[in-house]
Amino acid sequence: MLLVYPDYYPEFKCIASACKHSCCIGWEIDIDPESLVRFQAIEGPMGERLARSICLEEEPHFILGNRERCPFLNQEGLCDLILYGGEEILCQICTDHPRYRNFLPGRTEVGVGLCCEAAGRLILSRKEPVTLCVNVEEVEQEEENLPLQELRQDAFDTAQDRTRTVTEREEALLEHFMGWVPELSASQWADIYLDLERLDDAWTAVLKDLRSYGDSVDMDGFSQYMTGREEEYEQLLVYFLYRHFLTAYEDGDVGSKVSFAVLSTRMIRLLGALHWQMTGTFTLEDQVEYARMYSAEIEYSQANLDTLFTMLM
Ligand code: SF4
Repeated sequence: MLLVYPDYYPEFKCIASACKHSCCIGWEIDIDPESLVRFQAIEGPMGERLARSICLEEEPHFILGNRERCPFLNQEGLCDLILYGGEEILCQICTDHPRYRNFLPGRTEVGVGLCCEAAGRLILSRKEPVTLCVNVEEVEQEEENLPLQELRQDAFDTAQDRTRTVTEREEALLEHFMGWVPELSASQWADIYLDLERLDDAWTAVLKDLRSYGDSVDMDGFSQYMTGREEEYEQLLVYFLYRHFLTAYEDGDVGSKVSFAVLSTRMIRLLGALHWQMTGTFTLEDQVEYARMYSAEIEYSQANLDTLFTMLM
């Protein structure tokens, strides 16, 4: 089995208490069976606290507290479970997040999700083109290049072709992979995204602003403002291609995966342009924040992904 990861992956580090949007707030945290057995074997005050904090109905999960905080997230923004038993004590979802895994024939691909601001900073501040690495220690067989992987490499080559603007690369991707992103106005896109499942009121507010003011955004002016920062959009395109392209193994539809990568990059660019128009500025931190919101609301909702992929088919 091969383990594949983007070259920035080993540099990821959680910033814990410095995180503005901790993944220990607002997300349901399911507990896998092995961890549940481990938690139930703990005795004393921590064992009692665990018993009080876990709901065993349906999928066992932690009972979130005030403002949907994990019951083990303390006031300093640190995890009381880690303080008690080290990182090994954590359930699978807490150990993994924001890492994701895609299991494919003969290989597992891993990465870190843009829903985490530390991951977003790592990915979007990177100037050089991303390359993929294969973990040699995990290799038990010669890497076999499957047709879809070769196609994805073509997509990466197009997305990273720095002789063209990122907008030109997006057009080339759609053309080459027979993708399709409907030609809609900013306000029409806002309505489509407002119809999707939404978690955070801040995301709803952003989409409502897009609906109200998005059609008058000066995209050419924003492009000029972003001169020298095109790599941020290249990294977004490559991130979405890496994470979603090979899911075409399941349905054979490459076009919708490429279209999703282009649409997602365009939506994040549109939100950035709107922010710039409304405030006169748009920093890398703003970019990280819009990408974080987009990823949390869209990539981490299977219902939203299904809706968008179906629309783009
Ligand atoms: S969102 Fe990222 S940086 Fe923040 S607490 Fe979670 S893993 Fe750490």
